[in-house]
Amino acid sequence: MILPIVAYGDPVLRKVAKDIDSEYPKLDELINNMWETMYNAHGVGLAAPQVGLPIRMFVVDTTPFADDEDLTEEEQKQLDGFKKVFINAKIEAESGKEWDFSEGCLSIPDIREDVSRKPEIVISYLDEDFKPHKETYDGLLARVIQHEYDHIEGILFTDKLSSLKKRLLKSRLEKISKGKITADYKMRFPDIKKRR
Ligand SMILES: [Zn+2]
Repeated sequence: MILPIVAYGDPVLRKVAKDIDSEYPKLDELINNMWETMYNAHGVGLAAPQVGLPIRMFVVDTTPFADDEDLTEEEQKQLDGFKKVFINAKIEAESGKEWDFSEGCLSIPDIREDVSRKPEIVISYLDEDFKPHKETYDGLLARVIQHEYDHIEGILFTDKLSSLKKRLLKSRLEKISKGKITADYKMRFPDIKKRR
Protein backbone atom coordinates (compact mmCIF):
# COMPACT_ATOMS: atom_id res chain seq x y z
CA MET A 1 0.00 0.00 0.00
CA ILE A 2 1.28 3.43 -0.90
CA LEU A 3 1.46 5.69 2.16
CA PRO A 4 1.27 9.49 2.06
CA ILE A 5 4.69 11.09 2.46
CA VAL A 6 4.85 13.65 5.24
CA ALA A 7 5.80 17.12 4.00
CA TYR A 8 8.29 19.62 5.39
CA GLY A 9 6.92 21.35 8.47
CA ASP A 10 5.39 18.28 10.12
CA PRO A 11 6.72 17.88 13.69
CA VAL A 12 7.28 14.13 13.15
CA LEU A 13 10.22 15.02 10.88
CA ARG A 14 11.83 16.85 13.84
CA LYS A 15 11.71 14.03 16.39
CA VAL A 16 14.69 11.94 17.37
CA ALA A 17 13.19 8.58 16.47
CA LYS A 18 13.02 5.64 18.90
CA ASP A 19 14.51 2.15 18.60
CA ILE A 20 12.10 -0.69 17.91
CA ASP A 21 12.19 -4.40 18.73
CA SER A 22 11.09 -7.43 16.72
CA GLU A 23 7.66 -7.26 18.41
CA TYR A 24 6.86 -4.01 16.61
CA PRO A 25 3.33 -4.51 15.24
CA LYS A 26 3.02 -5.46 11.55
CA LEU A 27 6.64 -4.66 10.82
CA ASP A 28 6.78 -6.75 7.61
CA GLU A 29 3.74 -4.95 6.27
CA LEU A 30 5.23 -1.57 7.16
CA ILE A 31 8.52 -2.40 5.39
CA ASN A 32 6.63 -3.55 2.28
CA ASN A 33 4.57 -0.37 2.33
CA MET A 34 7.70 1.74 2.66
CA TRP A 35 9.29 0.06 -0.38
CA GLU A 36 6.12 0.56 -2.40
CA THR A 37 5.86 4.20 -1.30
CA MET A 38 9.52 4.90 -2.11
CA TYR A 39 9.45 3.28 -5.56
CA ASN A 40 6.19 5.04 -6.44
CA ALA A 41 7.84 8.39 -5.66
CA HIS A 42 11.07 7.44 -7.51
CA GLY A 43 13.16 7.83 -4.36
CA VAL A 44 16.36 6.01 -3.45
CA GLY A 45 15.65 6.10 0.28
CA LEU A 46 12.76 6.57 2.70
CA ALA A 47 12.77 6.89 6.48
CA ALA A 48 9.90 5.91 8.79
CA PRO A 49 9.33 9.51 10.04
CA GLN A 50 8.53 10.40 6.41
CA VAL A 51 5.49 8.15 6.64
CA GLY A 52 4.59 9.60 10.02
CA LEU A 53 6.30 7.10 12.34
CA PRO A 54 9.03 8.33 14.73
CA ILE A 55 10.91 5.00 14.77
CA ARG A 56 14.52 4.26 13.84
CA MET A 57 14.03 2.56 10.52
CA PHE A 58 14.84 3.49 6.93
CA VAL A 59 15.06 1.72 3.58
CA VAL A 60 17.57 2.35 0.79
CA ASP A 61 17.73 1.15 -2.82
CA THR A 62 20.37 3.00 -4.82
CA THR A 63 19.80 1.07 -8.08
CA PRO A 64 18.55 4.19 -9.99
CA PHE A 65 21.91 5.90 -9.30
CA ALA A 66 23.82 3.07 -10.99
CA ASP A 67 22.98 4.51 -14.43
CA ASP A 68 24.94 7.69 -13.73
CA GLU A 69 27.65 7.85 -16.38
CA ASP A 70 29.85 10.12 -14.28
CA LEU A 71 30.53 7.22 -11.93
CA THR A 72 33.26 4.63 -12.29
CA GLU A 73 32.27 1.10 -13.25
CA GLU A 74 33.12 -0.02 -9.74
CA GLU A 75 30.85 2.62 -8.22
CA GLN A 76 28.03 1.70 -10.59
CA LYS A 77 28.35 -1.95 -9.58
CA GLN A 78 28.26 -1.02 -5.91
CA LEU A 79 25.04 0.99 -6.34
CA ASP A 80 23.24 -1.45 -8.63
CA GLY A 81 20.94 -3.64 -6.55
CA PHE A 82 21.99 -2.18 -3.22
CA LYS A 83 18.74 -2.68 -1.35
CA LYS A 84 18.67 -2.74 2.44
CA VAL A 85 16.50 -2.13 5.47
CA PHE A 86 18.24 -0.35 8.36
CA ILE A 87 16.71 -0.77 11.82
CA ASN A 88 17.99 0.94 15.00
CA ALA A 89 20.94 2.26 13.01
CA LYS A 90 23.81 4.10 14.66
CA ILE A 91 26.54 5.86 12.68
CA GLU A 92 29.67 4.93 14.64
CA ALA A 93 32.13 7.08 12.70
CA GLU A 94 32.35 9.51 9.78
CA SER A 95 35.66 10.38 8.17
CA GLY A 96 37.41 11.99 5.21
CA LYS A 97 37.28 15.39 3.60
CA GLU A 98 33.76 16.79 3.15
CA TRP A 99 32.38 16.78 -0.40
CA ASP A 100 29.34 18.43 -1.98
CA PHE A 101 26.49 16.60 -3.67
CA SER A 102 23.13 17.92 -4.82
CA GLU A 103 20.51 16.36 -2.52
CA GLY A 104 16.75 16.27 -2.67
CA CYS A 105 14.13 14.81 -0.35
CA LEU A 106 10.70 13.28 -0.91
CA SER A 107 9.40 15.41 1.99
CA ILE A 108 10.73 18.59 0.33
CA PRO A 109 9.65 18.32 -3.31
CA ASP A 110 11.29 20.40 -6.06
CA ILE A 111 14.16 21.65 -3.92
CA ARG A 112 17.69 20.42 -4.58
CA GLU A 113 20.79 21.89 -2.98
CA ASP A 114 24.43 20.99 -2.57
CA VAL A 115 25.04 19.45 0.84
CA SER A 116 28.48 18.92 2.30
CA ARG A 117 29.17 15.58 4.03
CA LYS A 118 32.09 13.38 4.96
CA PRO A 119 32.65 10.58 2.43
CA GLU A 120 33.09 7.54 4.70
CA ILE A 121 30.91 6.09 7.41
CA VAL A 122 30.84 3.13 9.74
CA ILE A 123 27.30 2.15 10.64
CA SER A 124 25.83 -0.53 12.87
CA TYR A 125 22.23 -1.60 12.39
CA LEU A 126 19.80 -4.50 12.41
CA ASP A 127 18.37 -5.89 9.19
CA GLU A 128 14.70 -6.84 8.74
CA ASP A 129 15.38 -10.17 10.51
CA PHE A 130 16.95 -8.26 13.43
CA LYS A 131 20.39 -9.62 12.64
CA PRO A 132 23.12 -7.16 13.63
CA HIS A 133 25.59 -5.73 11.08
CA LYS A 134 28.47 -3.31 11.23
CA GLU A 135 29.55 -2.02 7.82
CA THR A 136 31.69 0.65 6.16
CA TYR A 137 30.38 2.65 3.21
CA ASP A 138 31.72 5.45 1.09
CA GLY A 139 30.77 7.72 -1.80
CA LEU A 140 27.14 7.88 -2.92
CA LEU A 141 26.11 4.88 -0.84
CA ALA A 142 27.34 6.60 2.30
CA ARG A 143 25.63 9.80 1.14
CA VAL A 144 22.19 8.19 0.78
CA ILE A 145 22.57 6.43 4.14
CA GLN A 146 23.66 9.69 5.84
CA HIS A 147 20.62 11.50 4.42
CA GLU A 148 18.21 8.81 5.64
CA TYR A 149 20.02 8.51 8.97
CA ASP A 150 19.54 12.25 9.50
CA HIS A 151 15.78 11.68 9.19
CA ILE A 152 15.75 9.36 12.21
CA GLU A 153 17.71 12.03 14.11
CA GLY A 154 15.13 14.69 13.22
CA ILE A 155 17.45 16.45 10.76
CA LEU A 156 16.65 17.56 7.19
CA PHE A 157 19.15 18.37 4.46
CA THR A 158 17.99 21.99 4.40
CA ASP A 159 19.29 22.33 7.99
CA LYS A 160 22.81 21.84 6.64
CA LEU A 161 22.72 24.80 4.23
CA SER A 162 24.27 28.21 4.83
CA SER A 163 22.11 30.79 6.57
CA LEU A 164 21.93 32.72 3.30
CA LYS A 165 20.62 29.68 1.41
CA LYS A 166 18.14 29.01 4.21
CA ARG A 167 16.83 32.59 3.95
CA LEU A 168 16.48 32.26 0.20
CA LEU A 169 14.52 29.01 0.57
CA LYS A 170 12.29 30.12 3.43
CA SER A 171 9.21 31.06 1.43
CA ARG A 172 9.43 27.95 -0.75
CA LEU A 173 9.64 25.76 2.35
CA GLU A 174 6.63 27.54 3.86
CA LYS A 175 4.70 26.89 0.66
CA ILE A 176 5.49 23.18 0.92
CA SER A 177 4.24 22.99 4.52
CA LYS A 178 1.02 24.70 3.40
CA GLY A 179 0.52 22.23 0.58
CA LYS A 180 0.95 24.90 -2.09
CA ILE A 181 2.90 22.57 -4.37
CA THR A 182 2.17 19.67 -6.63
CA ALA A 183 4.06 16.42 -6.19
CA ASP A 184 3.46 13.40 -8.41
CA TYR A 185 2.95 11.22 -5.32
CA LYS A 186 0.60 11.30 -2.36
CA MET A 187 1.64 13.70 0.43
CA ARG A 188 0.39 14.82 3.83
CA PHE A 189 0.76 18.51 4.65
CA PRO A 190 0.98 19.79 8.24
CA ASP A 191 -0.63 23.19 7.76
CA ILE A 192 -3.75 22.05 5.95
CA LYS A 193 -6.48 21.87 8.54
CA LYS A 194 -8.94 19.06 8.15
CA ARG A 195 -11.91 20.43 6.27
CA ARG A 196 -15.44 20.35 7.79
ZN1 LIG B 1 14.86 12.91 2.83
